[in-house]
Amino acid sequence: MKKNIAEIIDISNEIYGKGLVSGKAGNISARFKSEIGDVVAITPTLKSLSNLNEEDIVLVDLDGNILTKGKPSSEVNMHLEIYKKRPDVNGIVHTHSPYATGFAHSSKKIKRYEGFGEIKVPYLAEIDYQKPGSDELANNASEGLGEEDVLVLKKHGVICVGKNLKEAELLAVFVEETAKTQFVTYMLNSVEDNI
Ligand SMILES: [Zn+2]
Repeated sequence: MKKNIAEIIDISNEIYGKGLVSGKAGNISARFKSEIGDVVAITPTLKSLSNLNEEDIVLVDLDGNILTKGKPSSEVNMHLEIYKKRPDVNGIVHTHSPYATGFAHSSKKIKRYEGFGEIKVPYLAEIDYQKPGSDELANNASEGLGEEDVLVLKKHGVICVGKNLKEAELLAVFVEETAKTQFVTYMLNSVEDNI
């Protein structure tokens, strides 16, 4: 368990350092097995992911019972619904990373560039806006994710999931880079070539 908590703190620092989260936004979690069943370790509410301590990380069970001190992220239900629907997922990273979130606030979709595996559909999955922290968001996000590993939350941000937290982090980095590349492509295509 200590190892899981240490990993959450490390990855929180990494995604903050990479600019995927800023201020007090964003939240991440990891699921692990314990003698009482599945336990989810999640980042706290109203704290920056930049300098968390061990005691800031909150443990909850899949029913949302808080097992330690502290208050979990306001998006804890969204994380729990995803874990309940996806037994293969053990790590979740939710960010408002700027380029991907720019797309989320626009009418444009993020393309599935090379690197997302086999391209069966041209764009990343997305769901319409629901109030952050609401049951509607928790339900729609876990439904909308389906078997995908990335979900764009319109007018909000992005969720990336993985078989472990590191995989979810790598995906969050890749999604942001993809959105940045697509943005640059749109910009370049929109200007006249004056050479
Ligand atoms: Zn959010």
